[in-house]
Amino acid sequence: MSNPSLLILPGDGIGPEVMTEVVKIIDWFGAKRGITFDVSTDLVGGAAYDKHGVPLHDDTMAKAQEADAVLLGAVGGPAYDNLDFSVKPERGLLRLRKEMDLFANLRPAQCFDALADFSSLKKDIVAGLDIMIVRELTSGVYFGEPRGIFKEGNERVGINTQRYTESEIDRIARAAFELARKRGNKVCSMEKANVMESGILWREVVQKVHDEDYADVELSHMYADNGAMQLVRAPKQFDVIVTDNLFGDILSDCAAMLTGSLGMLPSASLGAPMANGRPKAMYEPVHGSAPDITGQGKANPIACILSFAMALRYSFDMGDEATRVEKAVEKVLADGLRTADLLGNEGETPISTTEMGDAIVIALDASL
Ligand code: NAD
Repeated sequence: MSNPSLLILPGDGIGPEVMTEVVKIIDWFGAKRGITFDVSTDLVGGAAYDKHGVPLHDDTMAKAQEADAVLLGAVGGPAYDNLDFSVKPERGLLRLRKEMDLFANLRPAQCFDALADFSSLKKDIVAGLDIMIVRELTSGVYFGEPRGIFKEGNERVGINTQRYTESEIDRIARAAFELARKRGNKVCSMEKANVMESGILWREVVQKVHDEDYADVELSHMYADNGAMQLVRAPKQFDVIVTDNLFGDILSDCAAMLTGSLGMLPSASLGAPMANGRPKAMYEPVHGSAPDITGQGKANPIACILSFAMALRYSFDMGDEATRVEKAVEKVLADGLRTADLLGNEGETPISTTEMGDAIVIALDASL
């Protein structure tokens, strides 16, 4: 069997810096675990614009469609802020998500014990937290028609439309139930069925998918506003949360902050299975290109490294190896090693991006 393929798109700003550290981890798996990937690297965002005049070349798009998984760093930066909307770096990212039809956005919120003090919540509320928000990414109010600003009588009216088809709800529900089976086997579905028809349909379809095909998974329903409250009151009650595009946008950012730093947060966006059974998939840190620290060796590579761990788990069915990476990160943090964004107390000395990557490789060695 041929090696699984990985397309690496480092992008702009700190993207290439953190991706260099991910490549060390990929190389470690080849050298020490006999797990090798066919890796190719290409341009996205401002870097692609500089070379091709577009933020994603058609050839790169074609490679992404073929790859078993895409790993992306970050896009954007001040040099591109005044470009026409159609060629802004973010358009490259949006094109990838749209053309690969990545409808399920996975945002884990995991609190490493060593960083529990970083949360804005009390330590005992977040220590050991491990939840996953599954957000529908390609439909709902961000895409529904009609939309626009229209004239109505002598004033203007702004309109957006929340719209979900049964099949769109069905496929995101299945994604959530499948994930739950690989984790704590619990799903909480969030909508506003009390005030929105799309919420009523959402609840009905999620329940039907559950009853027909996933009765072994524990399912509960919650109004999204209560969900937001529960996330800050007692987040550990959740395992997988599945919700629509708008509520997911807000709830996933809320959950992310339970864990502290932007430099720690990975994400995955998954689509339908390909012919080989693997889902179309793109993995990327939640953070952006961080122009304020680019080129200074200050970027925390952990979000990007944990994104690769998600690829191991969700694209390549290597959950044990993903856990190995997560444990290595945990060990390095428990040993007190910190990039600048993770420093709490005065007098602590930060380590560099490269040193953090090297320390994780050493921790991986120790795991053998
Ligand atoms: P940002 O995430 O780049 O940075 C926000 C703050 O967090 C900055 O102070 C930055 O230094 C810090 N930070 C982010 N990642 C870090 C890391 N790994 N280690 C240490 N510190 C880190 O968000 P922003 O400043 O709003 O945006 C900067 C650029 O990135 C903009 O051009 C924006 O459009 C783009 N952006 C891209 C993505 C993406 O590629 N997915 C996401 C968000 C923003």
